[in-house]
Parts: sequence; structure tokens; C-alpha cells
Amino acid sequence: MPSDAYEAVIGIEVHCQLKTASKMFCSCSTAYDGARPNSHTCPVCLGLPGALPVINKRAVELVLSAGAAIGAWTPDATRWDRKNYFYPDLPKGYQISQYDLPLASAGMLTIDTSAGPFRVGITRAHLEEDTAKLVHGEGPMGERLSLVDFNRSGVPLMEIVTDPDIRTAEQARRYAEELQLLLRTIGASDADMERGQMRVEANVSLRPRGTEAFGTRVEVKNMNSFRSVERAIAFEIERQAAALDAGEPLRMETRGWADERGETYHMRAKETSDDYRYFPEPDLPPLRVDTAWLAQIRGELPELPAARRARYSDVLGLSAYDAAVLVADADAGTLFEATLAASPGLEAKPVANWVTGDYLRIRNAADGPVTVEPAALADLVRRVTDGSINRSSGREVLEAHVATGESIEAIVARLGLRQISDAGSLGPVVEQVLAANPDAVADVRAGKPQAIGFLVGQVMKATRGQANAGVVQAAIRQRLDGGTEPGPS
Ligand SMILES: [Zn+2]
Repeated sequence: MPSDAYEAVIGIEVHCQLKTASKMFCSCSTAYDGARPNSHTCPVCLGLPGALPVINKRAVELVLSAGAAIGAWTPDATRWDRKNYFYPDLPKGYQISQYDLPLASAGMLTIDTSAGPFRVGITRAHLEEDTAKLVHGEGPMGERLSLVDFNRSGVPLMEIVTDPDIRTAEQARRYAEELQLLLRTIGASDADMERGQMRVEANVSLRPRGTEAFGTRVEVKNMNSFRSVERAIAFEIERQAAALDAGEPLRMETRGWADERGETYHMRAKETSDDYRYFPEPDLPPLRVDTAWLAQIRGELPELPAARRARYSDVLGLSAYDAAVLVADADAGTLFEATLAASPGLEAKPVANWVTGDYLRIRNAADGPVTVEPAALADLVRRVTDGSINRSSGREVLEAHVATGESIEAIVARLGLRQISDAGSLGPVVEQVLAANPDAVADVRAGKPQAIGFLVGQVMKATRGQANAGVVQAAIRQRLDGGTEPGPS
């Protein structure tokens, strides 16, 4: 059977560390990056007997906020459950999580893909605690050993699970990207994949196209970048299709992604929820979500990425591409907004072009941070738009502004970059160029319009690029077609 005879059914699970000052059930600080191992711990997050958890209200708020942002439903009362399993990074022998009453259910997120907009249903978002971290190494006698760092133990974690709606590897990547953007926008998480603040897992199965029943599901983990998400899922779809074609049975398993080899590999047989023996957490009361509190959280949501892209396209007239870049890149978006704010009445389109083009080019090539004053960018855009400096000079001015922080006015004066637009000052130069290039003049007169380009180029050269090319071309045409002398009008 050719592999396009199958349809992929993909669900994504994302775990993200919430941006709180303290851990989920104790007051230990979450700012442990670079800290000595096990220096951010207490009896609660070490799982010592008798230590009692206390709920971090801010973490609950951030999940409610994420739920509101995906249009999810939140019940009046939820509760905590114990997910039981044994692993050295989980000292209590269970993780406090939420099982049948998550804080948010039935949401959705619309993503843009190369095939157009696509809606991904979100089954649930719930709150739980992160595990400790195992560090594998070698002991003083050269023996292999594993160490446990409990600094991460108990960090608030939100798990977001999609419906099995996703059909392609590209949709999966785009979903993960859009979710990251959303979580950052609402301030729920920094969601940095490389730093493990956002971990993406995919459940992938295939079924013959046109059928309803799900095939055997394989979970794929260890995808540390958006690119890995797309590659791993694409690989897994191909692997499963080949197995089905060959009549080999697939097994329910968890597979890892080996980025350097570009393939998934067997890790372990997949646990089912029965294996976790969930039961209500006896140390914590059920959690009541007050309607007024939820309303307040909804009311405080910032403008969400989709709404902002729509505003940029529909109200400001930007292209879908520019809108997507400005919303996805925090620096670019901030500069764009601040530049428009600095100069009321300035047209959005050229500002967007400068930000998504030259600003990002300069920033991406720079080693350190790059600062562009919004008022300076507004000034530059205005000068290029009204023709007082040309586009390529403008680029040079922006680079000089980034390098020195000088005002646009000062840079234009210092570099002598004022564009010469008045025909009167250009007249003598045009005359010199025409006199020096009689062949080209003859060509133009003989009806070869491309010769004009050469003459314009000679004028640009003579003025060190400062001449307004449009004005020069008009002057040459008028001189040669009309036979009149160019001069002050
Ligand atoms: Zn603690």
C-alpha cells in the first residue's frame, strides 16, 4: 500500500513550567538556574514524610489564564489527584496532579499552516508538579552513577493535551510554535524548549484513509526544538506506514527522538492510566474556582497573538507575513508598536517593512543587543517616504544609528546623505552626463528606452547616490524627448 493510503492521527501533550516565584506546593524559589544542586529544597519538595503541601495560588491563576486564552471551560470546583509511580526523580512515589477534573477543558487554538488556518481542539489543561532531575555521570573510582538534583522538584507544571486532531508533522510544529507564543504572551511561561521549560510529546498513529478506528498509538518524546517536533513526527509516520505495509504489527510504546541520527528509537512499553492508580490527594482540599476570580482573570488577558495578527492585517493593512513576524518576534513587535506610537499619523506599512527587513537583519547579525530608538526609526521612515533620503542611504543611516545611537538628523548631516530631489540642482549634472555619453543619448533618441537606465546610473554615480532616481529620469526624458533645457521650473 502506498504510504498516502494512511492518515496520521496525532495528539500533542505539552508540559510547561509556569512562571511563578515559588514552587507548586512549598515556598522554595524557582530561580535555581545555575544554583548549586539541591540548594532550593525543603521537606515538601524533597518528599519527606509528614510534610504537607500548600497550593501556589499564582500557579492556579496562570492555568486559568491559559484556559481562558484557549476558550476553555473551567469547573466551579476541581481537585488534586495522586499519580503513583516509582522513579528516583520522584521521592514521594507519586506526583500531585489532576486526573478527571482538570482546571481547563474543551478549548481550542487556531494555527496558520501552509495549507491555511487549522483548528486544533484542546482536550484539557491541568496543573501538576515537576519532578527532580537525574544527572548521570561517573564517580571518583570511575564507576557509573546517577545523582538527583531536587531543585526542579515541585516546580509548577501545566500539562496541555490536544484532541487527536492533528494530521501532519507541519501542523504539529505550528501548534507547538503557536502555543509557545500564547504562553509567553499571557506571561504563563517562558516556554523555552532548549531549557526544558516547554516539553513536547506526540502521540502518533496511522489508520487507512477513510476509516474511523484509531491505529496503534506510539508516544514520541525528547524533541528539543520545533524542528525536531516536525522531523520526529514525519519520521514516525513513515516508519509506521512502512511497518503496516510490510504487515508488521505495531506495538504501543514510548519512543525517543535521536536528533543527530534523525530517527526514533524504542524507550519502553507505554504505561496506561490504570498503571498509575490515580486517587484523590488526601493532603489537599478540593479547589473552588470563584466566578468573580475567573472573570477578573479573563478581563486581564492581554491582546492574544491571533487577535493581534488580525488587527495588523485588517486594521493596519500589513501583509499576513509581516503580521506573523511582528507578532512572533517580541523585539520586533515592540519596536513596531513603539515607532507608530512615537509618530502619530505615520503609515504602518513602511514601518513594518523597516522592522521586519533591516532591523531584524541588523539584530540577527549582531553579537549583542541592538537598540533602535522608536522616535529615530519614525524619523527615518518619514524621510525615506517623503524622498528626502533614498532607500539605500536609509539603510546606512539605520546601521549608523544602531552603532552610535545618534539622531537621524545628525547622521544624515554627518554622512552628507541628503537626497537631491530638486531638478534645479540636478540640471547641471544631467547636462554633464548627457554631454559625456553621446552614444547613449543617441540610443535613447533612437527609441531604446533601456539606455535611459544607463544615463540615470551615471547621474547617481556623479552624485554619490544622493540623487533622486525618479527625478533624474524625468529630467533626462524631458531633456531628450521635449528638447527643452532642464532647469529651475
Ligand atoms: Zn520546597
